[in-house]
Amino acid sequence: MRNVNSLTVDGFMEGVIQRNRGQKEFHQAVAEWAHDVIPYVNENPQYQDHNLSERMTEPDRVILFRVTWQDDAGRFQVNKGYRVQHSNAIGPYKGGLRFHPSVSLSVLKFLAFEQVFKNSLTGLPIGSGKGGSDFNPKGKSDQEVMRFCQAFMTELVHHIGPNTDVPAGDIGVGSREISYMFGQYKRLAHEFTGALTGKSLEFGGSYIRSEATGFGNAYFMQEMLKHHNEDIDGKVCAVSGAGNVALHCTQKLTELGGKVVTLSDSSGFIHDPKGINEEKLAYISELKNVKRGRISEYAEKYGCDYHEGKAPWRVDCDLAFPCATQNELDIDDARALIKNGCKAVSEGANMPTTVEAMHALQEAGVIFGPGKAANAGGVAISGLEMTQNSMRLSWSAEEVERRLKHIMRDIHDKCAQHGKNGDQVNYVKGANIAGFIKVADAMLAYGVM
Ligand code: NDP
Repeated sequence: MRNVNSLTVDGFMEGVIQRNRGQKEFHQAVAEWAHDVIPYVNENPQYQDHNLSERMTEPDRVILFRVTWQDDAGRFQVNKGYRVQHSNAIGPYKGGLRFHPSVSLSVLKFLAFEQVFKNSLTGLPIGSGKGGSDFNPKGKSDQEVMRFCQAFMTELVHHIGPNTDVPAGDIGVGSREISYMFGQYKRLAHEFTGALTGKSLEFGGSYIRSEATGFGNAYFMQEMLKHHNEDIDGKVCAVSGAGNVALHCTQKLTELGGKVVTLSDSSGFIHDPKGINEEKLAYISELKNVKRGRISEYAEKYGCDYHEGKAPWRVDCDLAFPCATQNELDIDDARALIKNGCKAVSEGANMPTTVEAMHALQEAGVIFGPGKAANAGGVAISGLEMTQNSMRLSWSAEEVERRLKHIMRDIHDKCAQHGKNGDQVNYVKGANIAGFIKVADAMLAYGVM
């Protein structure tokens, strides 16, 4: 049914682009969503008269601040700090902090927008936010990272809290950075509350939080394959990245019988046809998290190929897991994956596949799991960390992983329900619509705001 308030995707996107000039990553994320959601809104009269789509693309607020800190030589350094509080329709703002030189308002707005629907899909009462800085932790001493994190939190503390906004980690923000920031939060807020997730186990962290995004991505792939009468066991897997998501995804894929043959960083990728087993994974984990070295050192140690400046998508594989960063898998990569017989792609990173590449994969019949569903395991366990903090107790690793598996299965089933297309599933459409419904219903219930 169409009424006078029916929108076209193009008309809607014109408005988004006009209001958010030059923010190309944000345009890309909204366009991918609008492609599915605008037709759905047009077909569902209860959503038509409230301008929900436009309201959903406008963050509640954007906080921008200066971060001044001193380097080891005593020089004053300045970075930009951001927090995008996108929506608290279904719970406190929640989403990671990214420290990387490429951080801009457009990148954080795209991440915060995606987070709205991802958090909705988890079934937990969590809203959406995202933040960070153009600070680059690479090459900085621990002392410099500490001083930066403390300076960053000195402003952020005014905007977060366990019932307001609960940040976590993302690119460049791991356990070390969360610990420095939580220490400063605790000192300034003068209370010990779960205002950050991804904390260490000794001070309120949850078992499986650091593993959750990568494990969840492997579980999501397992569910998609099961739905298509396939399995991870015996499959050759290409994974990109060598950070938190990539390494834990590799760990779980290996446990489920897959053979991971690639990993990468921003300099290039390694190809190890024998597979990255537990011992090799422990070496990389130490290399990246403690020595803060480069993935090329793996190739020297284990005598395999290293491809400088390249991504791993030209390698023969059954399954692909982009787990590094946005737009790392383009149309040529998609064509190579299709040609090499790749059966399924599951996004560990946020928006790692360009829109053109995603459509090419889907048209070729490659099963495609979008990040907002496939990488939702991290924020889901962050949600459970908040629950444990509120209850002042700690669940066992087995208990948390059991819940993670259950949540990923549930997300898969919601996507399959809303993305059903004959005997195929369009997981992108399913995730967009299932994520939209819960937030839209909450906004309708609140009236004008
Ligand atoms: P990390 O910082 O732990 O790792 C990022 C990895 O990606 C590193 O290997 C890094 O290489 C590589 N990388 C970064 N930028 C580029 C680039 N421009 N080109 C190629 N490689 C690059 O981050 P995470 O593993 O936490 O995050 C990875 C992705 O997963 C991001 O998209 C993030 O938003 C998403 N995500 C993370 C969640 C989490 O719980 N951590 C939750 C949900 C999604 P190098 O060291 O050379 O920079």
